[in-house]
Amino acid sequence: MRGLLLSLLVLSSAVLVVAQAQIKATVARWPQDRVAAISLTFDDALATHLDVAGPILKKHRLNGTFFVSTGLGVWEKRKEEWEQLAKDGNELGDHTVHHPCLLPEIEPHSQGYTAEMMQSEIQTAAQEIRQLFVSNRGLTFAYPCGDMSFGAPKDQAKNAALYLRYISDVAFGARGAGPGGVQDPDDLSVLTVPDLGPTAGKELGGLLALAEPAIREHNWGVYCFHGIGGEYLSVSAPAFDELAAYLDTHREIWTAPFGDVLRYIQERKSAAIEIHENGGGSIDVALSWPLDSQIYDLPLTLEVEVMDGAKEVTATSEGNFLQTKLMKRSATVVALVEVPPNTKVVHITSTRR
Ligand SMILES: [Zn+2]
Repeated sequence: MRGLLLSLLVLSSAVLVVAQAQIKATVARWPQDRVAAISLTFDDALATHLDVAGPILKKHRLNGTFFVSTGLGVWEKRKEEWEQLAKDGNELGDHTVHHPCLLPEIEPHSQGYTAEMMQSEIQTAAQEIRQLFVSNRGLTFAYPCGDMSFGAPKDQAKNAALYLRYISDVAFGARGAGPGGVQDPDDLSVLTVPDLGPTAGKELGGLLALAEPAIREHNWGVYCFHGIGGEYLSVSAPAFDELAAYLDTHREIWTAPFGDVLRYIQERKSAAIEIHENGGGSIDVALSWPLDSQIYDLPLTLEVEVMDGAKEVTATSEGNFLQTKLMKRSATVVALVEVPPNTKVVHITSTRR
């Protein structure tokens, strides 16, 4: 009994160490062991998103997230172009129909909203997006003006809770209120992910300065943009192009849509790993990730420390070879293995040659 207890050494949901064998397997903090994650998000379904931002992203082989308000004219008039943007790999997120805010100068004014009106804003926009672009991958949401409640002041505490519930009915994550700065993936509050703060009028240096703490600390930075090269709260087209060029050439930073970064974070946190040693430099890694595989469909990067002097590592699952890369990290050799969703067991063999 005592021996059994000793052998069941579970350290955390994502890490399991077999003490004697010194084999360690973890899920990498970011895919392919990249240093940090950046998301480029664009609010309000503006014309310059289609005319300027989309083409710049495409030129630099990047994808972003467009939080669209479906009652604003540009959405209605240019649906085929939004659909194409999504087909190119960009994410379309829910930003309500009419963009109701508590700010007195913004119309519609959500202090006059009932619970039913707010619920309809969120659900109708979600339906519009789903109709345009058929996908079962789930939606994300961004709060208009960053306001997380509605109605008269006396009702706003209760309504804040309702707001979260309505979002959770249609979305698996949301960009939250105000510039909270950098997001640590291990400390995620899924319906209030912060953004990096105001971007309006910034040049490349100012834009990079916003993301620098996220990159340095291996965290997630979410840019929030409005107009690109025009319209309001805008960043100039050259400044945005330079930022995109920077991210294109710095592929060690994972630039991905908001929803994809959320997916990876949640998959990593829910993945449980168990190692079985087979002897002779081979191990089996059993994985379980109890999430809805329609929404959480990204591969996970498994980091496995292999034996000293390993020259070759192969990883297979049900007879198929998995993409594997060897890396030297201080004294150890680490194999990075790309594990498709719902994989149950990965068989890893290392040889010295
Ligand atoms: Zn907005």
